[in-house]
Amino acid sequence: ISFAHFGFDDALLDSIIKYGYSEPTGIQKQAVPVALSGRDIIGIAKTGKLVNENKNFVILVLFIRILDDQLVVVYLGSGKTAAFIWPMLVHIMDQGELDKGEGSIGLILAPTRELANQIYIEAKKFAKSYSLRVAAVYGGASKMDQFKELRSGGVEILVGTPGRLIDMVKMKATNFRRVSFLVLDEADRMFDLGFEPQVRSICDNLRPDRQTLLFSATFPKKVERLAREVTVEPVRISI
Ligand code: AMP
Repeated sequence: ISFAHFGFDDALLDSIIKYGYSEPTGIQKQAVPVALSGRDIIGIAKTGKLVNENKNFVILVLFIRILDDQLVVVYLGSGKTAAFIWPMLVHIMDQGELDKGEGSIGLILAPTRELANQIYIEAKKFAKSYSLRVAAVYGGASKMDQFKELRSGGVEILVGTPGRLIDMVKMKATNFRRVSFLVLDEADRMFDLGFEPQVRSICDNLRPDRQTLLFSATFPKKVERLAREVTVEPVRISI
């Protein structure tokens, strides 16, 4: 499978090429066609795994540095972020108007501000192709600034940590009724960090006809239960 098989339009394909991506990664080959078909996904995706821990794991970039005769292998990622950002962009462009003349919003929940920022950066690269706006909200930064950014003109892609996202909704900075594409990234870590009530509260307040992608490195019972509750006839993907 090459990028051409995904059926992306020229705007998106051009930017993928511009950023130097020559071939989809394993998770992209598996997840993108399923997500584009509109199905929900439960993805078992390891994060920060070293290549020698699992030979089947497709790794994208390896930095090998030789320090005092020691090999240091640094894992940089699987391409999971783009695997959900590209279908999210296609979805938003296809949806048109949703609520009171306003368009669809793609929402991504992430456990930490670092991950939220990484997702934001990846989303920004490709959202430009369609002039869609991206914002990231998380704790430890000014609520007022984030509020203003969301209120002024709005955004089509919103990434954030669960607690701050709820604050933003309470402040009426954004409208959850417009969220028709939801990604829960690193669901197990969100649970480890105590975000289960916030994650559930957010999911309960979204439109039931949304598309949902849930990724987690591990599937303890709590995460499995959430995954079953927030998805509809999900396709399971494992990398
Ligand atoms: P991620 O695993 O999503 O954090 O992505 C890790 C890094 O790989 C990011 O810097 C991406 O921009 C980059 N990346 C994602 N997909 C591809 C691809 N198909 N080819 C080359 N680089 C990619």
